[in-house]
Amino acid sequence: MYLHGTSKINALGHLEIGGCDTVELKKEYGTPLYIVDEHLIRQRAREYMDAFKASGLTFQVAYASKAFSVKAMCTLVEQEGLSLDVVSDGELYTAMQAGFPAERIHFHGNNKTPDEIEMALDAKIGCFVVDNFTEIHLLQAMAAEKNQTVKILLRITPGVEAHTHEYISTGQTDSKFGFDIGNGSAFEAIELASKQSHLQLLGVHSHIGSQIFEVEGFQMAVERVAGFAREVKEKLGLTFQVVNLGGGFGIRYVEGDTPLEVSQYVKAITDGVKNHFAGIGEELPEIWVEPGRSLVGEAGTTLYTVGTSKDIPGVRKYVAVDGGMSDNPRPALYESQYEAMLANRANEPAAETVSIAGKACESGDMLIWDLALPKVETGDLLAVACTGAYNYSMASNYNRIRRPAVVFVQDGQSDLVVRRESHEDIVRNDLIPARMNKQTVTS
Ligand SMILES: *Cc1c(COP(=O)(O)O)cnc(C)c1O
Repeated sequence: MYLHGTSKINALGHLEIGGCDTVELKKEYGTPLYIVDEHLIRQRAREYMDAFKASGLTFQVAYASKAFSVKAMCTLVEQEGLSLDVVSDGELYTAMQAGFPAERIHFHGNNKTPDEIEMALDAKIGCFVVDNFTEIHLLQAMAAEKNQTVKILLRITPGVEAHTHEYISTGQTDSKFGFDIGNGSAFEAIELASKQSHLQLLGVHSHIGSQIFEVEGFQMAVERVAGFAREVKEKLGLTFQVVNLGGGFGIRYVEGDTPLEVSQYVKAITDGVKNHFAGIGEELPEIWVEPGRSLVGEAGTTLYTVGTSKDIPGVRKYVAVDGGMSDNPRPALYESQYEAMLANRANEPAAETVSIAGKACESGDMLIWDLALPKVETGDLLAVACTGAYNYSMASNYNRIRRPAVVFVQDGQSDLVVRRESHEDIVRNDLIPARMNKQTVTS
């Protein structure tokens, strides 16, 4: 297993993260446990900020909080000077409860409800990323009612779709998100939005995909957006103050994943902006990006306790852990791959190949296929790396399994940032209708 950030194997042969021995963390907090390397997140955040500062452009780096949205994370992001993207009232509420500055919050999503818009207007957030014509009209009406002027970006689809190792140039008309440049709806949206009395159009947003390992997709997107900006300037006399190029910067889950350095992605974007936006307006636009996975993914490790196993001779050996798809649905959803090690016997050589099963009642609840490990025993600790993004945030109570605790570790200190759910939490919102208690059920 690749050791990210401050992860290392200590003198006892145990996996240690942020100076904390994982065997001790299990004793203190139990398993499954999400362990987050705080130092690594801060380091990544600084890499983004430094790379943009070096470019000389005006910028904002907004953390896409859907990757991992908890109050302590919002606080960390605030301290590092980043902005924050939210896509629901729940993420907005989390940020507000953490005291995140409203003017640095951006609200995304293809179907913001009137209640969510009202909450965001009352909070006076910095910007709405408007996705469709219905929302232009709804936001204008609601802002007018409150006598507010609202800053907006329009989400456009530039006709570039990035995949991990390839990028596809598509019409991309068939997407639930945003206004298409190719079919003219983006232009129409700009024209409409710019005429609204209570909307202040700052510019446009584009997000081309996730877990991207190349700069070409971003370069193509910048070029297309610049071409669009030029058209808008020529036909409507409008210039974009802000251009948001989204997230999607890749991370290393397993051997064979080849992400670039943060600075390489940022340089490709800022160089592209300098090349393609020169001369469109008086000055270059402010550039925003929205990393999610790349800020937190590699910083997370999930610690499990090994329970049962089932050896099918000549076929495979299943080893089951005390979590699974309820804390990490990604393998079941996307066939995502992960690396893992025995955290309590981290120095021992591999002796067998096993497949790691979760405990939920689904055959598809498998975390890792064909993993080489020392001879696994009940009670061993299994550490799965790179679970910081889209794990806790996608966790569920399927089978009424309680969601794990989350600890931040740094410099030998561990701090609980999310408590493990209790049995009481599991039934907290359940109600038994009174009428069911009135009559005794007779057979
Ligand atoms: C999901 C998303 C992001 C973050 O994507 P990552 O792959 O986690 O970096 C950024 N912007 C938008 C609009 C998104 O939907």
